[in-house]
Amino acid sequence: MRYLIVSDLHGNLEALQAVLRESAGGYEHAICCGDLVGYGADPNPVTDWVREHCATVVRGNHDRASTGQDDLEWFNPVARQAAVWTLEHLSPENARYIESLPRGPLTVDSFQVVHGSPLDEDEYVIGAGEANQAFHYLASRLAFFGHTHVQGGFIWNHSRVETITRMPASRREEMLEIDGECAYLLNPGSVGQPRDGDPRAAYAIYDADRHRVEYRRVVYDVDTAQQKIYAAGLPPVLGDRLSVGR
Ligand code: ZN
Repeated sequence: MRYLIVSDLHGNLEALQAVLRESAGGYEHAICCGDLVGYGADPNPVTDWVREHCATVVRGNHDRASTGQDDLEWFNPVARQAAVWTLEHLSPENARYIESLPRGPLTVDSFQVVHGSPLDEDEYVIGAGEANQAFHYLASRLAFFGHTHVQGGFIWNHSRVETITRMPASRREEMLEIDGECAYLLNPGSVGQPRDGDPRAAYAIYDADRHRVEYRRVVYDVDTAQQKIYAAGLPPVLGDRLSVGR
């Protein structure tokens, strides 16, 4: 069984379309680690795709915020403005769907799916210290997470935590062999708003039979996604940052 793993789509349709073009035929099930909306100008088409195609979806913090389930006070002003805009533009059906999304962790076959960490859906697992703690709460040896918008993740190797380094900009994919002796907390990266300095849309393919995860990056039409953000009256910085992947 092969899984398409996507996270942090954030209403960026052009990025999602590029991911789907590139991954077509390469997987049987699609899994989403949360943050379907917020930031981007196409919350409805992106949510439509997730509703129709993703077998397993956990909610992200922007999904809660953009459907009025959260106090927006702790959001920075730009994120708050985007959440309010999304709240006003989501169709009633899509808003209901997003509201109904479960909190992680969810278990799919032999792996888990979370937005932040297995302990706390809002926690940012950025460094080996946080990962070290998070590994203790995993119910399986493999979990996919999002939230940080940084492709990569962590390997628990005989009680040592290793950080997976970023794929060079010259490469489009990188293979990770899954060793049954280790545990893995893997981030497919963000489809719609990468923040690891690489503006290409990020995703992963997990091949359960071959025990490997393929990290991938794909160039997409950043310009169109930006123009839509500017035209929608969303904070322009949300468009600007897409060119630099920050
Ligand atoms: Zn996010």
